[in-house]
Amino acid sequence: MKDTNLTKRKQPILRLLQLGSVKWYGLILIIFCSVTRSIIKAFTSYQLGAAIDALSVQELISSFTHLMIAIVLPFGGSILMAVENRSIGVTMESLFLSIRLRSFTTLAEADVSYLEREMRSGDVSSRLNSDLENLNSILSGQFTWLFTVLIQTFVSVGFCMFVSWQLSIAYFLILPISIWGIQKISKPISRYQTKASERTGASMNVAVDMLSNIFVVKSFHAYDEMNARYTQEVNLAYKETTRSNKIVSILMALKLVVSIMQVGILFYFSLYYLKQGLITVGDIVVFISLSTYVREGFGLIDYVARALRSASSLAERIIQVIDIPGEQDGKDNKKDSTKPLVSLQNVSFGYDTMQEVLKGVSIQVRDKQKVGLIGHSGSGKSTVIRLICRFYIQTKGEIEFYGKPAECWDLCALRKNFALVPQEPFLFQGTIFDNIAYGNANCSEADVIRASKEVGLWDFVSGLSGGLYTHVGDYGAQLSGGQKQRICIARAMLKNAQLILLDEVTSALDTKTEEVVKKSLDKLLANRAAIIVAHKLSTIQDVDYLYCFSDGEVIEHGTPKKLLSQKGYFYQMCIKQGLISEENTIYWEDGDAEAGKD
Ligand code: ADP
Ligand code: MG
Repeated sequence: MKDTNLTKRKQPILRLLQLGSVKWYGLILIIFCSVTRSIIKAFTSYQLGAAIDALSVQELISSFTHLMIAIVLPFGGSILMAVENRSIGVTMESLFLSIRLRSFTTLAEADVSYLEREMRSGDVSSRLNSDLENLNSILSGQFTWLFTVLIQTFVSVGFCMFVSWQLSIAYFLILPISIWGIQKISKPISRYQTKASERTGASMNVAVDMLSNIFVVKSFHAYDEMNARYTQEVNLAYKETTRSNKIVSILMALKLVVSIMQVGILFYFSLYYLKQGLITVGDIVVFISLSTYVREGFGLIDYVARALRSASSLAERIIQVIDIPGEQDGKDNKKDSTKPLVSLQNVSFGYDTMQEVLKGVSIQVRDKQKVGLIGHSGSGKSTVIRLICRFYIQTKGEIEFYGKPAECWDLCALRKNFALVPQEPFLFQGTIFDNIAYGNANCSEADVIRASKEVGLWDFVSGLSGGLYTHVGDYGAQLSGGQKQRICIARAMLKNAQLILLDEVTSALDTKTEEVVKKSLDKLLANRAAIIVAHKLSTIQDVDYLYCFSDGEVIEHGTPKKLLSQKGYFYQMCIKQGLISEENTIYWEDGDAEAGKD
């Protein structure tokens, strides 16, 4: 079983990078490009400053050299940016590819009961679909951009300190105050804008309302009423928008004032230090151009925190899928064919801890024995099949296969011995061939043709223009219920398993189709053991042994003949379904196979 440690967790994004086996050299290349690009940018500004300083002392050649360096450097930056973008694309896409593959494997090996309890399938698909997409766009889009800006900020801070630590200190004192002021002003701007667009939306609703109910509007001749409602909404929207525009423009102006004030104060300090001889004109130019990067970076801190939070919660949701526990798996794969195929001893089970669905059930199936499970709907028959398939694990009692406890079995080896035909014939997307051959990778076309002949499907299939290679449509939409069911029976036939599990296979079919499907089933069941779950007793005419279920308990068991003679639950069911009457109880003939119990 896979280790699931849901409580002790690393930062989810880091964990996802690890789980998805991210290409670390790709990340290192991204960081390298980003850092180098930032240094190049800062160095370019520095060269510009040096060019101005050289010019101011009439050193033309030196000034020209600095200027040329400042012009050439950004080319290098552009090449690095191309390399960085490519690395981001490749690293992130391969990361998300591996996460998708890993999640799919987890789901295929998942413990069904956990999946059912903790994650509905719709939820899982939204995690693997939209959550992964969103995380991908945050990590490869916003996040890497933010990361680049932050690196640029740190490099620029370093360069600012290098150019003039006095000016840097003054600037870093002004900066938080101005960012705080700008944020305070920006908040109401977006609030007013949202309000205005909500109002416009409300007026659109009236128009949509009218269009979608156009027949009602026309038949009631309600134009005037609709018009009045629309005019009222549009006027309100207009008022709200103009009011918001007015306030927004004032706030924008204020924002500009704060920004100008910030630059103004910076200028004041620059001139002061210039007068003192602590810095040069070139330093001021460098400083002002670098301070733009610093301001941009600090202004984004809030945004980074938000992006990090949403990326973390998305990563957490995806990790929860990857952490779904696997099935209990043992190592044993050798069977002792002298022992009963399946044996349940005092087995109890509940889908949740509150309610037991099976209570102390004991069942045995020997080689080539046909065992019927009957009982009213909800009595626990399908649950027995699910426990035998090990989709769920019993809470009490023992289940053995070929004399060995279920827990010891390697599930793959164990399930090779069973073929399940469920009530709902489920087809996969693909051709009839794909669906019959499903799970039997080595079977040939001849095998598939033989199986479809045995289930009486060949006449239909060979008459199709695409033959075996005809697409079944979405989940078999182009086939009838009986045809789908026979494809599932052919699939089970090719599996050549020793034990066939039939869960109300014919109960959804009409009488005529049921007859056809029953003939296919007879071929499938010949010389094999079977557990046949049925509500309609006519479908278990040939069973050797019966277990009658009521509210999760076996209330009667024995050969059909013996049960009829007991005149209990089974006898009553036969009478109710018109198979026998009080005068004539001959319907069942006991088979040869000896019952395991009794
Ligand atoms: P049967 O096949 O005899 O009609 P089931 O074995 O399907 O009965 O169901 C037995 C009981 O278990 C029913 O009460 C049913 O509501 C409940 N049950 C079946 N499947 C689930 C499930 N996946 N989760 C919770 N309860 C279930
Ligand atoms: Mg059932």
